[in-house]
Amino acid sequence: MDQPERNDPPELTPEPGLNPALDDVRFCPRCASPADVAYPRSIGCPSCGYRAYYNPKPVVSAIPRADDGRIWLLRRPPHATAPGANRWTFPGGFVDLGESVPDAARRETREELELEIELGELVGVYSRTDERVVLIVYAARALGEPQTTAEAVEVQAFAVDELPWAQLAFWSTELALRDAIASPQSEHR
Ligand SMILES: [Zn+2]
Repeated sequence: MDQPERNDPPELTPEPGLNPALDDVRFCPRCASPADVAYPRSIGCPSCGYRAYYNPKPVVSAIPRADDGRIWLLRRPPHATAPGANRWTFPGGFVDLGESVPDAARRETREELELEIELGELVGVYSRTDERVVLIVYAARALGEPQTTAEAVEVQAFAVDELPWAQLAFWSTELALRDAIASPQSEHR
């Protein structure tokens, strides 16, 4: 999508794709009248009063560690969304409506690695103005060995001094791993 020419300061120019739910929306979903869209945050309808607000979406991850302190990472499939394709990260995904954040961390780890985990402390919360997700990351203890799946084409346990820093999937992957290994609890391992 081409950015329209405008003179707004850069911080007021929303990134295209920041809210896919409002991309190209021009009509009220309730009565189909022309709507007022304040991209990316809200939509309102002057005809029927419909109004909806959009907020960043929570994504949760767990960093599963083996009992010897090594960190289990997975390699994302080659067809995954750029820039994370074919790169290393930890399991995670969107929190579903009707689900708690810790439950989502356990479910995503089960789905992506066929691995049960015991959740530990909160490692951190990661967000940026140009991204629509807020990433919440927990430390975790791996209760077994992960398996490869459609979402994890390779799995490997990395020692802390052997983490693949140059091949990580996302900016938040690197920050969270740095925070996880800097945590005081990490030194007990
Ligand atoms: Zn309406």
